[in-house]
Amino acid sequence: MAFKGLLLEESGGKVSSKITTLEESALPPGDVIVDVAYSTLNYKDGMVLSGLGRLVRSYPHVPGIDFAGTVAESSSPDFKPGDQVVLTGWGVGEQRWGGYAQKARVKASELVRLPHGLSLKQAMAIGTAGFTAMLAARALEERGLKPEDGEVLVTGASGGVGSVAVAILAAWGYNVAASTGRAANGDYLKGLGAKTIIDRAEIAQPKRPLDSERWAGAIDAVGGQTLACVLTQLKYGMSVASCGLAGGNELATTVIPFLLRGVNLLGIDSVRCPLQRRQDAWKRLAADLLLAKLDAMTETVPLGELPGLAGKILRGEVRGRVVVDVSLA
Ligand code: NDP
Repeated sequence: MAFKGLLLEESGGKVSSKITTLEESALPPGDVIVDVAYSTLNYKDGMVLSGLGRLVRSYPHVPGIDFAGTVAESSSPDFKPGDQVVLTGWGVGEQRWGGYAQKARVKASELVRLPHGLSLKQAMAIGTAGFTAMLAARALEERGLKPEDGEVLVTGASGGVGSVAVAILAAWGYNVAASTGRAANGDYLKGLGAKTIIDRAEIAQPKRPLDSERWAGAIDAVGGQTLACVLTQLKYGMSVASCGLAGGNELATTVIPFLLRGVNLLGIDSVRCPLQRRQDAWKRLAADLLLAKLDAMTETVPLGELPGLAGKILRGEVRGRVVVDVSLA
């Protein structure tokens, strides 16, 4: 059966995109076919759409690292037609065709049931970025972080991971400091629950191997020198969850904060996160995230706007989350 999708093609090292009609027979192998309703735009999608980072090795390619939809066909006992499902990660949209099309074929083991309390669209307003923010917040919690420990920093706060991280931490009762390079987003971030807005220039690089103890915890979507700076400012024994590289993938630091303050650097990976942990994270997202805040951080676009938005997300110009309605060209 034919369906619509956004296809990337490569010629002479340049990647171009077009919205086209695709055949089900062209989909990658898998035991479940999903009628995709929504996908999203994540930082990694921006890279794939722009042909960066050698994330895609084989063209033509359908991007989209996450999607939500309804099972159309299944040869797995775990899903039946009509089930509503969510997918994030597993290399879908990178090594295999992804969610920027009206149909996707994937492995049953990669799917999570749509959590109670969320619509397909709300699940994608969360998407990979929000799921990652929950993994990061839970990692801090698992290290023992409690609201009474003090201020928790979120870097890259007006982006997708950052916006959801601010909203989750605020919902859990934390005193959230949101770091942003876009002062104009101050009211937006306060609306999501941030108490304090920090100019990202303040934490753009470490000032000394150990700075004053300030943060009880941090969720870092920026990496690079920002992460190095955060390490020098963590309170004794506290942790930063590293989940992004919007500001750079190199980490030049000293071991001093680890040795003298016993701080922790926690790695967050959403792509290969095991199933039970995924299900738990989605349950908490459905239960804890205020849907009004989710609405406030989300815009919905058709497939045709994605090529233009790719450069914007890589330049840090997108605010919050972008949901892609794949029924719209
Ligand atoms: P966004 O582009 O939506 O957010 C990134 C934010 O970082 C921007 O909005 C901006 O926030 C800030 N920023 C951008 N450029 C710079 C810079 N040069 N220096 C400092 N800050 C900058 O992306 P996402 O939220 O989708 O993703 C954020 C990061 O997390 C990406 O690196 C992405 O690859 C990573 N990621 C990792 C996952 C994992 O599994 N570990 C999963 C999902 C995402 P502001 O304007 O407020 O300063």
